[in-house]
Amino acid sequence: AKQAGERNSSRIYAPEMETQAQERFALESRLHQVLERKELALHYQPKVDAFSGEVIGMEALLRWNSPELGTISPVRFIPLAEETELIVPMGAWALKTACKQAKKWLDQGHKLTVAVNLSPRQFLDKRLKDTVRQALTDSQLPPERLELEITESCAVGDVTYTVNLLNDLKSLGVTCALDDFGTGYSSLNYLKLLPLDTLKLDRSFVMAIPEDKNDAAIVRSVIQMAHDLGLKVVTEGVETRQQAAFLKYNQCEILQGFLISRPLDAQEFGEFLLRGTPEEWV
Ligand code: C2E
Ligand code: MG
Ligand code: MG
Ligand code: MG
Repeated sequence: AKQAGERNSSRIYAPEMETQAQERFALESRLHQVLERKELALHYQPKVDAFSGEVIGMEALLRWNSPELGTISPVRFIPLAEETELIVPMGAWALKTACKQAKKWLDQGHKLTVAVNLSPRQFLDKRLKDTVRQALTDSQLPPERLELEITESCAVGDVTYTVNLLNDLKSLGVTCALDDFGTGYSSLNYLKLLPLDTLKLDRSFVMAIPEDKNDAAIVRSVIQMAHDLGLKVVTEGVETRQQAAFLKYNQCEILQGFLISRPLDAQEFGEFLLRGTPEEWV
């Protein structure tokens, strides 16, 4: 009780808030320079075919390595980048870099699809289609090797705008996945309207399967529904063999998570590809 009280009073007297504001300021002032200072990197997390174990692709995930602040999680800097609109040039860099890297691995004989995350602010950017097209042209990556991961929050507001933009992007030949499915507000409506290829089931539903009967029921039904809608299913956050077994049993075709691998830097991912599928989880 004493601890809780202390925590409360620290909020009232605000030293913590000041620290937060200071931290935010420290992050934000440096965020403006990440691109020119080349402090961004992409890590790649494998996605595997649940049945064959084959690596079928990877998700590109932004990392910020600041010499002064250390490694900063995207959970901390993406929201700030969204607010300041820096996400637009950062996202363009991520698209360009991911496509170039994927093309290298493709040329080495690995049949991979790279997934790049798009946030709502990028979705409102009129140049998004040109940015995607440019990344494809520069890298010479075949468009069907690029998947765009969007969240429901990209569609909040004007659904028609989102549907049109997605169709426009897909006319380039890329595919589209709905990320973090199940965590938003009106999932089923978006699922019905958006021209999607893949549904990514959020980690929060996977954590407690197969023991938790409610989560198990939801996972089973969502996979079934997605298939009936003609969508592929990727489950993210797979950490245990029991979870993988449950997902395979219920016909989820693609798995992603720490069980298979954490996100790896480009060199580590290259080594991972050469080692082949890890035996222990198949
Ligand atoms: P996300 O797109 O849902 O990415 C999956 C996140 O879950 C990643 O966190 C990944 O490291 C983590 N993860 C994967 N497997 C497991 C697992 O088995 N267990 C656990 N506990 N976690 C797992 P990360 O890399 O910190 O990224 C967080 C979020 O930041 C992403 O969520 C995405 O929304 C955003 N983000 C990352 N890169 C980009 C980017 O290039 N552009 C945009 N717009 N957003 C990005
Ligand atoms: Mg994602
Ligand atoms: Mg996700
Ligand atoms: Mg997520």
